[in-house]
Amino acid sequence: MHELSIANNILDIIRQHVPVDQFSLVKSIRLKIGDQAGVVVDSLEFSFSALTAESPLRGARLEVERIPFVVSCRQCGESAPSESGIVACPRCGSVETTIVSGTELRVTEIELLEPEPEGA
Ligand SMILES: [Zn+2]
Repeated sequence: MHELSIANNILDIIRQHVPVDQFSLVKSIRLKIGDQAGVVVDSLEFSFSALTAESPLRGARLEVERIPFVVSCRQCGESAPSESGIVACPRCGSVETTIVSGTELRVTEIELLEPEPEGA
């Protein structure tokens, strides 16, 4: 259900940026999703398809860029990706770390098809 609400949020963002009469021209929505954002991308794509199936947005596809989870250590200054999602520093083991990236979920671009030239 989490992914369904995210898919609804994406639809809201499209509504804010694209006029209704251009919905059928939406080709793709680019997203950045952190590895530790807690989002199952397959579920999100499924939810989005289900929500748009009977709408002018049915041609739109999600293009997801995964962002690695990176922590920066305040003790030793190391900044390193952490595949496990553990926030402890991979070098010195300190938990005095700051999350640099990997928890974001952002729409970065909405791509539209070129409209058909009128009267062609
Ligand atoms: Zn460290």
